[in-house]
Amino acid sequence: MLVIAMDGPSGSGKSSVSKGVARALGLRYLDTGAMYRAVTWWMLRQGVPVDDPAAVAARAGEPVLSVGTDPDAPTISVDDTDVARPIRTDEVTGAVSAVAAVPEVRRRLVALQQQIIGAGGIVVEGRDIGTVVAPDAAVKIYLTASAEARAQRRSKELTGASVAATQADLARRDHHDSTRKVDPLARAVDAVEVDTTSLTLPEVITEVVRIAKG
Ligand code: C5P
Repeated sequence: MLVIAMDGPSGSGKSSVSKGVARALGLRYLDTGAMYRAVTWWMLRQGVPVDDPAAVAARAGEPVLSVGTDPDAPTISVDDTDVARPIRTDEVTGAVSAVAAVPEVRRRLVALQQQIIGAGGIVVEGRDIGTVVAPDAAVKIYLTASAEARAQRRSKELTGASVAATQADLARRDHHDSTRKVDPLARAVDAVEVDTTSLTLPEVITEVVRIAKG
């Protein structure tokens, strides 16, 4: 059972690369960021003050997530509501780092991720996959890209957002994500770094598939 851990910061191209690699190798695909976003969406909807870690921790056990792992049609729902779209709003994006920093949330989602991974070959994208979620993964990739390239890619996805504003938001999230007690952006010592700044998407996919085939 092949597990590929795909870590890296926002805008490094993780999602497109992970889906492409999963398709190329006939593996499933799991977007762990979507799971943190789904819990955040639920907290906001329930009126939980997301900047209060104790309040978030107290409700962390409640939302029931279900995740589909087909790379051609990944799905995510919370309590039977399809949240694939609402988890991408600015409101959720602005709150997700705070919710993801709460240990009770991480513990629960990591356990669920490990259960999904245990069912068979998969490409898993996130921040702590090679270090915490799947430390025994056969293949660990750490994607990087320059801050400017990352902001350019993200602002293309978010219609209307300026590159400068997006770059500032990514910097804020990176800082928030990497100054936690346990830094989930810390790369696994055995991860292979792939810098995507000057590569096209098909080139990155080819490179990761080559690494995976060893
Ligand atoms: O990948 P994406 O940008 O959708 O992730 C959203 C947020 O979820 C990240 O900024 C980070 O705070 C959190 N996250 C995490 N651990 C993961 C995946 C995402 O803390 N494995």
